[in-house]
Amino acid sequence: MKSILNTVQAEFVAQFPTSAKRYEEAIKIFPAGVTHDGRYLRPFPIYVSHAEGSHKWDLDGNEFVDYWMGHGALLLGHNHPAVCQAVGEQLSRGTHYGASHEPELAWGRWVQRLVPSAERVRFVSSGTEATMMAIRLARGFTGRNKLIRFAGHFHGWHDTVMLGIKPPYDVPSSVGIPNETLASIICLPPNDIDAVEQALVTDSDVAAIILEPAGGSNAAIPTKEGFLAALRELCTAHRVMLIFDEVVSGFRYVPGGAQEYFDVTPDLTALAKILAGGLPGGAVAGRADIMTLLDFQADSHANRYERMMHPGTYNANPLSAAAGAAALEIVATGTPQQHAGDLTLKLIQGMNEIMQTTGTPGCVYGDLSGFHLMVGQKDFQPDDAAQILTRAEPERLSIGMGGLTSLVRAAMLLEGIDPSGPSGRLSLAHTEADIEQTLAGFERALTRLKRWEVWA
Ligand code: PMP
Repeated sequence: MKSILNTVQAEFVAQFPTSAKRYEEAIKIFPAGVTHDGRYLRPFPIYVSHAEGSHKWDLDGNEFVDYWMGHGALLLGHNHPAVCQAVGEQLSRGTHYGASHEPELAWGRWVQRLVPSAERVRFVSSGTEATMMAIRLARGFTGRNKLIRFAGHFHGWHDTVMLGIKPPYDVPSSVGIPNETLASIICLPPNDIDAVEQALVTDSDVAAIILEPAGGSNAAIPTKEGFLAALRELCTAHRVMLIFDEVVSGFRYVPGGAQEYFDVTPDLTALAKILAGGLPGGAVAGRADIMTLLDFQADSHANRYERMMHPGTYNANPLSAAAGAAALEIVATGTPQQHAGDLTLKLIQGMNEIMQTTGTPGCVYGDLSGFHLMVGQKDFQPDDAAQILTRAEPERLSIGMGGLTSLVRAAMLLEGIDPSGPSGRLSLAHTEADIEQTLAGFERALTRLKRWEVWA
């Protein structure tokens, strides 16, 4: 392994020399040299100078077909003219009023119009804040404490969601989480409705069930047909709040997100990413009776005891509101989802064909506008991809690419493709030419991985 890393290091320094220098500066400023764990990469991350449409460029002028797409925020691609114009106009009128404003009304109206569960909306600044708020609302509304979540699902990085993200699922993904908080989390295997029923029958202190409705880790472990409807029934029967974390799937599947696509309406929805058109922003959208917890009581004493407090300096920031409203207007047409979804299927098919002809172990699979890489995994074959799409064996998928993720990503970067680790997302801006360019680059990346002797 050490000799592979030395080879990768040498090839990275040769191709990305300025990024190598910037990273040396960065490790003296930022722990691990990065500002988001997901951007950490051995031997070093690339430094991007600018982006346009579906492409981005690094400081040495290398061009990449981008499949990070702003961590999934950019369904419309980089610098969509309508979003840029809306932000530019807002910028000239002020960036923060410390007051109510019209752009937040327009933004909130779009959420209400598009998202089935959005009887009322509150804006926050990120997906993490959105899931935190939804869970607190559920606890406040039910007067109960515990949260059921599913292994492999990701809900941001606040205390209550730090258990059950990655194997081993009983060890929190972070230090610093109080034992009392961990004791309030019930982590169950995904897609196991009997386990959910058992937990609800034996424990009357469950306030909410939270999940990524399309499946854990950005639908890498897809949800089985019928699971969401069964969850909905159980939650209603036990008066437990059903929270959909649609931070990724929101607006991406169809304009109303996974809840519209699968036709199951949760009590509360956490939104972010596409919601704010590429600027920071999040929201909780939910049932009006639950959201009244945010209303002010006439009796100020009751505010402390019956109300949920909700400040936040950047809630509905005017720039995010302008970007979000402009983006959602286009999202509402359904065109971006259709376009990105069609191209994704072509990309997945092409990648699997290349894996087949090159004898590469593993497969690529995905749903709608996202794909997942299982490159190098001997237990999977390219023709497994179709079966995986039928959601037949989601449990097998939790292995992902494991320790190979970083090497596969490095090989693809060296060939002009930027997937976000084990997965990627397409946008309205991606083109047929991008798919061709990506498939050619993918084939070269596989050759490179073979040369590095990543798998025998
Ligand atoms: N939920 C899901 C499903 C996510 O994918 C993410 C971020 N990738 C979050 C919540 C947290 O969002 P943020 O990074 O905006 O805090």
